[in-house]
Amino acid sequence: MSETKKTDVDVLAIGAHPDDIELACGGLLIKLVREGRRVVVLDLTRGEMGSRGDAEQRTREAEAAAAVMGVMAREEADLPDSRLANTTEQQRAIIPYIRTYRPKIICALMAPDRHPDHAAAHALSRDANYYSGLKNIDTGQPAYRAPRIYYFYPYTELAGAPPCVVDISDTFETKMEALRAYQSQFHNPQYPGPSTYISSREFWDGIETRARYWGGRIGTQYGEPLYTETPLMLDALPGLETGAEE
Ligand SMILES: [Zn+2]
Repeated sequence: MSETKKTDVDVLAIGAHPDDIELACGGLLIKLVREGRRVVVLDLTRGEMGSRGDAEQRTREAEAAAAVMGVMAREEADLPDSRLANTTEQQRAIIPYIRTYRPKIICALMAPDRHPDHAAAHALSRDANYYSGLKNIDTGQPAYRAPRIYYFYPYTELAGAPPCVVDISDTFETKMEALRAYQSQFHNPQYPGPSTYISSREFWDGIETRARYWGGRIGTQYGEPLYTETPLMLDALPGLETGAEE
């Protein structure tokens, strides 16, 4: 794990592959960093099975993207790409990160998803957080469970209408800048590798189309849909904020 100070962060964002987090909730994370929140990203794999870019290149790209977002640390759990599964062994590999950073909130991937690793990461992140709260699972650290998990989709929302959409109008351009750090992954005519689903021009353009669609649903320029598996507590009704426009 990185040498950065490691306790009581606001958010631990867990993706299956480098770039998942930027696609899924990069706008939100940048917004939180700008508010002074402590945000850490954990990539479960290094994306070494991808058709473009090797593990070293993808790690360099992930570090560059982390610098653009301004997160305080980015970690790699080094679980096997294309073999993520919600097993005891893989849960135990994630628990030390949750206990080290003690996040108030975990952001994780939503399911179902066309990529099996994403669906596995959904259950794996949720269940690792649960078991992290059991003191008889010994990692040499105090037990800790993040009180809340929010879920996001990197590509396409397959779970139906989201309960919330985050306004990312002010951070969308920085999210795209973070994504451009993944030179081997997305549309890049200079890159010599084979074409993939996410390297197409259509996928790249679709990132903005989705953000505009979700922004349009809440009356803003850009948005990121957010899912939960438990009800959200509101102590103020949106629409009745002090100073809200008529
Ligand atoms: Zn992925």
